[in-house]
Amino acid sequence: MRVIASTHKCIASGSCVMTCAQVFGQRDEDGVVQVLDEHPSLNLLKSVKQAVDLCPSLALSLEDEQDVDHLTVVEDRSGE
Ligand code: SF4
Repeated sequence: MRVIASTHKCIASGSCVMTCAQVFGQRDEDGVVQVLDEHPSLNLLKSVKQAVDLCPSLALSLEDEQDVDHLTVVEDRSGE
């Protein structure tokens, strides 16, 4: 399972940080999402998924990778 945080879509609401502070943070300068842990343990999967669902700007997305049983969270800064 892979979670992608698209920083260019983020509106700095902070919901992801409130939902899963172990994985998501916010940049000091503008509050945009920051990935704190790119390889969180699988027991955080539920709260990471919840953060994805709650993001008001749909900046977080989930990708299923075949034959992968670990969680990866990446920051996508390509649209900035
Ligand atoms: S919940 Fe979405 S919009 Fe809010 S800070 Fe996190 S990524 Fe950005």
